[in-house]
Order: sequence, then C-alpha cells, then structure tokens
Amino acid sequence: MNKGRVLVTGAAGYIGSHTVVELTGAGYDVVGVDNFSNSSPQMLDGIRQITGSPLTFIEADCSDRNQLARVFEQYPDIRASIHFAAHKAVGESVQQPLKYFENNLTSLLNLIGLSTADGNSRGIVFSSSCTVYGEPDPENLPIKETAPVKPATSPYGRTKQMCEEILHDCTAACPGLKVIALRYFNPIGAHPSALIGEMPAGVPQNLVPYITQTAAGIRKELKIFGNDYPTPDGTCIRDYIYVVDLAKAHVAAVDRILGTTGSDRYEIFNLGTGTGLSVLELVNHFISATGVNLPYSFAPRRAGDIIKVWADPGKANRVLGWKADTPVDDVLRSAWEWEKKVRGIR
Ligand code: UDP
Repeated sequence: MNKGRVLVTGAAGYIGSHTVVELTGAGYDVVGVDNFSNSSPQMLDGIRQITGSPLTFIEADCSDRNQLARVFEQYPDIRASIHFAAHKAVGESVQQPLKYFENNLTSLLNLIGLSTADGNSRGIVFSSSCTVYGEPDPENLPIKETAPVKPATSPYGRTKQMCEEILHDCTAACPGLKVIALRYFNPIGAHPSALIGEMPAGVPQNLVPYITQTAAGIRKELKIFGNDYPTPDGTCIRDYIYVVDLAKAHVAAVDRILGTTGSDRYEIFNLGTGTGLSVLELVNHFISATGVNLPYSFAPRRAGDIIKVWADPGKANRVLGWKADTPVDDVLRSAWEWEKKVRGIR
C-alpha cells in the first residue's frame, strides 16, 4: 500500500534516520534531505539495509531556498514534510546565536514557503522540544501541552519557540497548511539492528552517549552533574523515550495530518513515556541491563540544567493512538549494542 510521498529533512540524523525507517515500513514513499552538517552518509546505508529498499535522497541545505526548491520541483507530489534539519547544541547556541537563528529559522521559513507556494495542501510535522517548558512549576508535573511556555534559556530553545509561533501564525493564514508540533522529551537508544543510532561529534553532551562511550572505554568516567538537587536521590530527573517509539509517533502524526477526519490545523503533542527517571536510576538501569562496568563520580551541577521534567503523554496516547512502551532496559541495551558496533567491540 502506497500512502504518498513524505519529505524528511535531516534524514541522516539521529531521529530522522529512525523515522525514515518507520515511514518506509508504514507504506510512505520517503524523499530524504540532509546536508551532512552533523550527520554522515553512512546512516543512509544503515537505513537501506534495514528497509531492504532503495532510499530516495537528495543532498541539500534547507537554509538555501534554491536547494530546497529543487526538491519540491523534482517531487511536486510531496504531501507532508517532517522537519528535523536544525542545529541542536545548546551550549554552542549560546556562543553562536546568529548561527542558530539563521539556520533554524531560515530552514523553516523556506520549508513553509515551498510547502504552500503552489496552492496544494500540505502538512508539516515539526521537531520541537520539551525545552519550551523551561523549569516546570511542580504543580504542572507531569507536564501537559497546556503548561505555560517559559522564556527560553538558550538561543537553541528560543529557535524552537519561535518556530512553533511561526508555524502557528502561518497555519492560521494559509488554509492549505496543517501542522503538528511534537515536543520531544529525551530521546535515547538505537535501532534494534544496530545499523543506525546516535553519532555525536566530539565529546558527547548528552547522558546516554556519554554512558555508552564510558562503558566502551573511550571516556574515563561518567561525571554525574549534581547530586544535591531537591529530588529523591539528589540527581536530575528526565523522561527518557526510545528513539524507535519516537519515530513511530511521527508516522502517527503524518497519518493524522493526511487523514480526512477533521483535526485542528495546528496541534501540539508531548512525546514522552510519562515516567521520570533520575540520572542515577538511569545509570543503574544501564549497569544491570548490560552487565557492563560503568565508572562514575559526582561532579558539580551543570549550568542551566532543569531539575525535573517528565511528560504527560495522554494527549498523544489518545489522539494519535500511540504509546512509548519499550522497557528502559531494552532501550539501554540497544544503545550499548550500537556503541559496540560503532567501536568494533564484540
Ligand atoms: N548528565 C550528566 N552527565 C553527563 C551528561 C548529562 O550527569 O555527562 C545529566 C544532565 O545533567 C541531566 C541529564 O543527565 O540531568 C540529561 O542530560 P542531557 O544533556 O542528556 O539532556 P537534557 O539536559 O537536555 O535534558
């Protein structure tokens, strides 16, 4: 069954690659786009091996309108886009805000312009983030989509907020446009085939890649940033969601956007498990699930860290008919299998 053509920007990236696999499995014709600014063509081979089918792919920079226009000229039958392509390093965005505003905003503006230029109806699924909630007030946990958006603490976070607002306004003005913004909590893990996964450049900033690199002996020890937070064990709490579960939510979002039954033209969904885990709990899950030694020590707090946040995924569960239900031990094992594969560890 062919369900139509979907453009995936950032197709070689971490969440993008897993989503291309799930879309293909669900019967969509994918056209992938990436400029490899923070990803590698190797990921496309992984996708092709998993799906067992050729992947339509164009190397293009979404912030260059002409390059993205050529994609739409070549594939005017694109019915919806999933927009992953963006810079995402919080720390770098503080150092180089203009790089983030230029790239993340321009790419989205180009995509909206080209999605609506020929008068066809199209959908956009946008990669947003729970970072828009900032530090939630305790009475707002678990956090619903109706919780207030707090002033962004980094230019990266601000681009996510601004992009959501731009999409909201454009949807109101353009009857052919339908948008779903997906606010991700903390995506982790890798495809069970270990053919695609997270590939951070340089020293990982995120917890799970740091854990797996430490377990692989590339880093000496994991530093747990802060054990004096007002949480049961003193470490920060997050909602860690399996990247494959997350990818499946994108298929559900595209199904909804292209469906005929009336949905609002601009919708927001939280994508999380609904369960918060502390850093220490996640570390202990990793050790017990893999049986691997993981040296760690406590270090000072990291500037800007949120103390605790986890999702109320009830709206996505009900409306998208989707649930993140992969056990965290399986997820952590998948991350470890991927790390071993990348490092050639048996
Ligand atoms: N963290 C840590 N050591 C690391 C990396 C992260 O203790 O080397 C902690 C971090 O302080 C936070 C949690 O792990 O409490 C998740 O961090 P990550 O950067 O993965 O996600 P985010 O902070 O963006 O939610």
